[in-house]
Amino acid sequence: MSKTTADTKSLYPHIALIPSAGMGHLLPFLRIASTLLSRNCTVTLITAKPIVSAAESSHISAFLSQHPQVKHVDFQTIQSHNPTADDPFYLQYESITRSAHLLYPLLSSSSPPFSAIFADFFVASSITPMAAELGIPSYIICTTSIKFFCLIAYLPVLVTDPAKLGNSSTELIIPGLTPFPVSSIPSPFKNPNHLFTRCLVLNAKEFSKAKGIIVNSVDFFEKETLEEIKNGRVLENSLPSFLPIGPLASFEIKKDKGEYMSWLDNQPEESVVYVSFGSRTAISRDQIREVSKGLERSGHRFLWVVKSTKIDKEDKDELKDLLGGSFLERTMNKGMAVKGWVSQEEILAHPSIGAFVSHCGWNSVIEAARQGVPMVAWPQHGDQKVNAEIVEKAGLGIWERNWGWADQAELVCGEEIGEKIREVMEDEKLREKAKKVGEEARKATKIGGKSEKVLKELLELLQ
Ligand code: UDP
Ligand code: UDP
Repeated sequence: MSKTTADTKSLYPHIALIPSAGMGHLLPFLRIASTLLSRNCTVTLITAKPIVSAAESSHISAFLSQHPQVKHVDFQTIQSHNPTADDPFYLQYESITRSAHLLYPLLSSSSPPFSAIFADFFVASSITPMAAELGIPSYIICTTSIKFFCLIAYLPVLVTDPAKLGNSSTELIIPGLTPFPVSSIPSPFKNPNHLFTRCLVLNAKEFSKAKGIIVNSVDFFEKETLEEIKNGRVLENSLPSFLPIGPLASFEIKKDKGEYMSWLDNQPEESVVYVSFGSRTAISRDQIREVSKGLERSGHRFLWVVKSTKIDKEDKDELKDLLGGSFLERTMNKGMAVKGWVSQEEILAHPSIGAFVSHCGWNSVIEAARQGVPMVAWPQHGDQKVNAEIVEKAGLGIWERNWGWADQAELVCGEEIGEKIREVMEDEKLREKAKKVGEEARKATKIGGKSEKVLKELLELLQ
């Protein structure tokens, strides 16, 4: 007997996905989209335009051409005439929030109707109340760690008393949670008028109205925080349930294999240190020079993604100008420096990779965890110091706390960088621990694994 439309609707949920801005937000959404499709869900992807980075545009196009069954809504946002910050990603969060009401007709009249809306935590303040009005269950997608998300949830209280962050050598106590070193709290949180802070405060006030918070994390990896939440004392139990479904698997983008992959193919097993600071962190020229010294001093092979601007479209510098011709010549047989987008998941999965020097963006952390690659945590901004502590506690890497935020004047010198790289590359115990993290992380998404069960139960609930 053939299925009727009504049968199909009741069997498989239709889910609207609403990411915010930046690859660190888009990629987990595309990964969730691909996971949902593999479980026969109908997916509508709603992306804001204009798009900030070239990487976002190319990934959306590639994803849609590979998954033609996805309904795509290109959503024109209302731009500010009087922008209050120069960070285009922050401005995009603000534009989406300002324009979200325009989505009302779409969300209310979709066919088949939406079973749920999954919205980025940076746009929750506008989407969650609208979903409630329409009677559509809404879930928040958290693209950072559970621990940092709890800090965001506490922000509305914190901004009323910024003196709590006055002394960087003390700790911030959030009810029910292991204390946060004040030095790990991003500096914009001291300023209630900073756009980053304002956006997050606005969103945090709506977190409790969501049905759940879906996270790209694995329960064992953030055991401490999840246990504290389970005890019911975190923020007076005001947050919806956390649903760890990670590590999210990458979706395939079929394109030519980068030259760096062929280079990796020719390197011995676990001999290469991979260095990258993610998709939106510019490293100063002086710091780039110190990294180059550090890599040379470490004596190890390296693959280094060099990035000197926040937005990829503005990245016009040549490698030769950034690194100097003599460095490139001297290290020709030992390493490879590249510019532009690389396939990080493929790199981390390559047998020649022995360590990862990372800014600890949450996606990078979870990708390293999934592949069991030991890390040198070098947080630069935002959530990254909180994430670095999780890396350390999970046994996935080391974190030198004396290395400050990127916006602090002091450079990390090449000598120290070289030393940390050697430490991680030559620590067999750490390598073993990291491999165990990888095994456990991969187990979680197999049938019957912890994350797989969470996802299965969620989708059953939405049917
Ligand atoms: N990424 C990549 N190639 C690059 C730069 C970044 O594949 O050249 C991916 C990386 O694997 C991760 C995401 O982009 O999935 C960046 O997110 P993350 O949270 O690590 O850091 P952010 O870029 O948001 O600071
Ligand atoms: N940033 C990031 N992830 C975060 C927070 C910030 O990648 O969670 C980036 C952001 O895009 C910007 C930079 O960090 O490029 C600056 O952040 P910072 O916390 O230093 O604040 P700001 O410099 O805007 O005052």
